[in-house]
Amino acid sequence: MRKQFALPAVIAVSVLVSAQFSIVAQEKEKPAPQKIAIRAGRLIDGKSEAPIANALILIEGDHILSVATGGSAPAGVPIIDLSKATVLPGLVDAHTHLLLNGDITAEDYDVQLLKQSIPYRAILSARNARIALEHGFTSMRDLETEGAMYADVDIKTAIANGEVPGPRMQVATRAMTPTGMYPLLGYSWELQVPKGVQYVDGVDGARKAVREQVMYGADWIKYYSDRRYHFESDGVLHSMVNFTDDEAKAIVDEAHRLGKKVAAHAIGSDGIAAALRAGVDTVEHGDGLTDALIDEIAKKGVFWVPTITVGAYVAPGRGGNWTRMVDLEKAAFQKALKKNVKIALGTDAGGFDWKEINQAREFEYYVNYGMTPMQAIRSGTAVPGELLGWSDKMGTLEAGKWADLVAVSGDPLKDITELQRVKFVMKAGAVYKNELQ
Ligand SMILES: [Zn+2]
Repeated sequence: MRKQFALPAVIAVSVLVSAQFSIVAQEKEKPAPQKIAIRAGRLIDGKSEAPIANALILIEGDHILSVATGGSAPAGVPIIDLSKATVLPGLVDAHTHLLLNGDITAEDYDVQLLKQSIPYRAILSARNARIALEHGFTSMRDLETEGAMYADVDIKTAIANGEVPGPRMQVATRAMTPTGMYPLLGYSWELQVPKGVQYVDGVDGARKAVREQVMYGADWIKYYSDRRYHFESDGVLHSMVNFTDDEAKAIVDEAHRLGKKVAAHAIGSDGIAAALRAGVDTVEHGDGLTDALIDEIAKKGVFWVPTITVGAYVAPGRGGNWTRMVDLEKAAFQKALKKNVKIALGTDAGGFDWKEINQAREFEYYVNYGMTPMQAIRSGTAVPGELLGWSDKMGTLEAGKWADLVAVSGDPLKDITELQRVKFVMKAGAVYKNELQ
């Protein structure tokens, strides 16, 4: 017995030794991370109140080494000259659907789920990720695949491995409603049609669904708090709440127990109130926020992701209450701004066609609705950085953070639509677009 043990032990030691040697050898062969400098004519670092003129950003590998006013790059370090441009942190969209390509009508939606395979939709999502990155979005939270199962985990992995260009991703996978409360609906009961979400029922079912989604790669859990939005005589936008309080609390509790955060789709006041009772981390859309709910969302420090671009886009095609909802959300936005609600920029891209609308239009709405351009920029950089839990890595341009930055020709503090014309994109120190040289 002893002899039999001895031999594998010797082999094991030799394997260990050779493995150690090979690691040392690899480290010796690996070139030092490349340094590169950027000369910014005007720098909005995402932190300072005013822009910094003539700034020098020194980058090593994927992160920022230093940010200084004036000065020159160390000898031998190449410089990217953006001296005629404004440089700012990479943009962040906290609410997207890479696996969707516009759904103004129910038919638009059904056709994608019924006639496109998940592999085909995944190929389109890679195209959408590239479009987003070229528009300056270096990070995104993708809030469910709309029937494409866990394909968002795959696109996230392909981007992280450098196989396809795209933003850094956090993903929510399938999302949840109770049985029968999300499309595809209205088909013969004899047909097994795909579902846009995972149907989840009961407290035990909720906990199991959270565990399952986390097992397959969900960074966030998303659930639909409400549906059927309608105005009542009190002038408030009401809705039907999907989950019982016990079910919603089980979703949130299980997700938090597993170290994941929860996003709730909540449009009507009843759905928003239910989501806040359940203890969610972010409220999506939130058109029906009343004064009392605005106070509560502010007090709890819950993020609000307004997605105004999609609301304004789908309203004419959907008719009904949707136009009135856009006006209602504008009023809520102005009140929330006064009460310092944490507003994180999110567009619902995918709810509109990625090829048709630039996500950065959302910044323009925020300024039109009352934010200063600097507030709008922070709502699309540092604030969603905090939402993603990556405040120590992104959202501002300073030493130690990821080298995720964009540049525009003009001054976005004077004209916020400049952000819809991003000319330079760097993510993790790599240049993906440069139309300035
Ligand atoms: Zn959405």
